[in-house]
Amino acid sequence: GTADQKLGVALVGLGSYSTYQLAPALQDTEHCYLAGIVTGTPAKARTWQAKYNLDPEHCYSYETYDQIAQDDAIAIVYVVLPNSMHAEFAIRAAQAGKHVICEKPMGMNVAECDAIIAACQEAGVKLGMGYRLQSEPYTQEIKKYVREKTFGAVRFVSADAAYISRGNPNQWRLDRSLSGGGALMNMGVYSIQSCIYSCGMNPLTVSAQEFSTRPEYFRDTDETITAQFTFPNGVVGQMMTSHNASANRLYGSCDSGWFELQPANNYGPLSGRTSSGSISFPHESQQKLQMDDFASHILYDTPNRAPGEMGKRDMIIVEAIYQSIKEGGREIT
Ligand code: NDP
Repeated sequence: GTADQKLGVALVGLGSYSTYQLAPALQDTEHCYLAGIVTGTPAKARTWQAKYNLDPEHCYSYETYDQIAQDDAIAIVYVVLPNSMHAEFAIRAAQAGKHVICEKPMGMNVAECDAIIAACQEAGVKLGMGYRLQSEPYTQEIKKYVREKTFGAVRFVSADAAYISRGNPNQWRLDRSLSGGGALMNMGVYSIQSCIYSCGMNPLTVSAQEFSTRPEYFRDTDETITAQFTFPNGVVGQMMTSHNASANRLYGSCDSGWFELQPANNYGPLSGRTSSGSISFPHESQQKLQMDDFASHILYDTPNRAPGEMGKRDMIIVEAIYQSIKEGGREIT
């Protein structure tokens, strides 16, 4: 690509994340811009056309979606739908010859992640996950501490990602057929990823527990999950994720110091401190950084910071956690 080239992005599913985070971020991106939309709600199409000056020819419904193949203004399709729809719409985007960004969690299970990866490989298109923290400076700093052993070897990591859900009990996130699971499918990926980059490798084993205190509200999906990991380098880790508690933290204990982010996984600004003082970076939209990183990967072959394989890795861990819960702990008698 040339230095001033910008790739057109189509957002698929105009819910709260597209509306309040991605579309505004796409007004500031350097390597991509909002070029189209895909929505099942005609009124949203009209509002977005007016607000973002979109030509109706770049606006699609779920039925006309495949015609995006003929739309040269759109290079990247960003799937921002309920989890159960990620695989289908990511695969159809790849088959239309478009690069794909898929929101987290990548799919309902590992098999869906494999199908998305295969479709993108077959079509020869790039695949990225909506993992905004992979482009975020505090997170990069933690990775640097681990890589450079700034505080010595890491021994113990701990990460929590949770919020209290009190809304409509019929929302898709609480409906297993649309979400694939509860807190673990929603926020769990943040605590899993925090553990992984705080120790610098993928976990080897997991033991997990599920807690349910509001079964009348969480009829169908997990409410609170804790899990303990071991890692190949001897690090021990623990995580918590919940739809019934508030937590947002990453901590790493090292041989000669420690690091912490709190908050660690919201839209920012994040906040961090270490045994040798506080850390601070100027705030930028994480979504802007993430989408620019992906567009730059396509245009200039810079690293793909959140490839499909990372989405699949996280889903493998999610499945292992659910499996460990099923196997159960030992009763104390
Ligand atoms: P919303 O419920 O706010 O929006 C989902 C949109 O999907 C709807 O507005 C609708 O858009 C479309 N849709 C199509 N079919 C359905 C259906 N059966 N039920 C509900 N919606 C449907 O969800 P979010 O925007 O919060 O989340 C969307 C995705 O983005 C999820 O996978 C979520 O995990 C991920 N996400 C990621 C975040 C991150 O930080 N990376 C943050 C928030 C969400 P339309 O009317 O246009 O058809």
